[in-house]
Amino acid sequence: MVAWSEIDTVMFDMDGTLLDLHFDNFFWLKLVPEHFSKQHGVSEKQALAHIQSKSAEVHGTLDWYSIDYWQAELKLDIPRLKCQITDKIRLRPGAEQLLKALVAEGKQVLLVTNAHPISLQLKMQHIRIEKYFERLISSHQLKKAKENDGFWESLKQLFSYDPTRTALFDDNLNVLRQAHREGIAHLRAIKQPDSQQPSLPVAEFPQVEDFGLIAPDTC
Ligand SMILES: [Mg+2]
Repeated sequence: MVAWSEIDTVMFDMDGTLLDLHFDNFFWLKLVPEHFSKQHGVSEKQALAHIQSKSAEVHGTLDWYSIDYWQAELKLDIPRLKCQITDKIRLRPGAEQLLKALVAEGKQVLLVTNAHPISLQLKMQHIRIEKYFERLISSHQLKKAKENDGFWESLKQLFSYDPTRTALFDDNLNVLRQAHREGIAHLRAIKQPDSQQPSLPVAEFPQVEDFGLIAPDTC
């Protein structure tokens, strides 16, 4: 359970938290290798290996999340490819129910994502949840990824908040660890970020499965 009475601000990650990570996994593990293979005349297996080795070089940095970086590296039109699979942009269980209940309770609700602004915009066009947030923040605005030192302190430049009365939901453990180091008090991980993959092993943060089950009772 979450101690909602001790919380004023609720921050949500987007991919793998509010939204099914299947979109992103399918995109990077299937669609991009398929197109890279066609464009560069290599096998899909070689294409995937190339993308994964490039990915390992920038893991945990803002480049890893940057459409500009991947367009330059792979010479592919990344936004156009994303538009081909918009049917895979889906909410995780109970996400909208929780957002609605938090707004009704008068909480400050924020989306704080590492997604590039173009990806953020694409996803918000296809699932209509923008209305629930006080702010939509892409870490690209602060030129730091959420798992980088000082991100949560820098975030106060964009939105003033009290970490001791803030909750953060995120499927990335490195992000939660960084938020913990910077004093965010209520931290929750996600049990099954990708609906097509098995649940994640238990980690140091409590995991949420269905957001509807933790929503404050508004009746
Ligand atoms: Mg995520």
